[in-house]
Amino acid sequence: MPGTLYIVATPIGNLEDMTHRAVRTLQEVDLIAAEDTRHTKKLLNHFGISTPLVSYYREKEASRSAALVEQIIDGKDIALVSDAGTPGISDPGSILVNKVREAGLPIVPIPGPSALSAALSCSGLEPGSFLFIGFSPQKTSARRKLFQSLISSQYPIVFYESPHRIHRFIHDAHAVLGDRKVLWAREMSKRYEEIKETSLKLLAETISNEKIRGELVLIIHQGQDERPEKESLEEILIWYRDNSDLSMKDVCKKVAADMGIGRSDIYQQALVLWNKI
Ligand code: SAM
Repeated sequence: MPGTLYIVATPIGNLEDMTHRAVRTLQEVDLIAAEDTRHTKKLLNHFGISTPLVSYYREKEASRSAALVEQIIDGKDIALVSDAGTPGISDPGSILVNKVREAGLPIVPIPGPSALSAALSCSGLEPGSFLFIGFSPQKTSARRKLFQSLISSQYPIVFYESPHRIHRFIHDAHAVLGDRKVLWAREMSKRYEEIKETSLKLLAETISNEKIRGELVLIIHQGQDERPEKESLEEILIWYRDNSDLSMKDVCKKVAADMGIGRSDIYQQALVLWNKI
């Protein structure tokens, strides 16, 4: 009989969030594949678990997966864990899951903590759709391009961020998306947990000289269209020019998407209104 791959969620900061089922699964499997064995060793020690560990980090996903699949075929039960939260959510896991599935072997999730669900749970957003991006690109140009593609998103957007990139993230998000409501969820389940609803403008102003510590989830709300109704295209463009922080290009993109018309149709008019010709 082949074994099973268990995908086990672990705490994102507070060890009391470990589920009974996660503890039992990690005790019972033959092997635990961990993103960082030293990190997971501390978790195992806390719960008195002595199951052998093997490292499974992003750079080794492909090579390690093949060996792990062989072991599952040979009847071994294996658990996959990441450093924190649910494996596969902005964490390694997908290559192993795909290989195990291709081999026709069973995959069982052991649900539990995730920064994504923790932040959403206290966001106060209407139940419904959201867009999960996770980490935005490191390069400014790529990050801005991503934000531009999200200008017209009808959904709140969930980002993961690290403290050393948060200033640039907020600066670019504000510059491209304009002022929007945002949920700031820092150090969730830890001692210095900070969860607040604020705005991109306020954050850009307040954190610029501040050292931010800890891990962060940001949920940026969809843009509020405050334009008065039944306006001409010219009035709409003027409204955005005078009331938003968007560049002319981004305004054209947003208005084109909102009105369902071609961008080139409004570009010429925008050039005149922005005094560019
Ligand atoms: N797989 C994990 C999950 O299910 O949430 C996420 C792993 S990802 C590599 C790490 C990122 O998750 C951090 O940079 C941060 O954005 C977010 N994160 C993890 N723990 C957090 C916490 N306690 N508070 C706020 N954000 C957290």
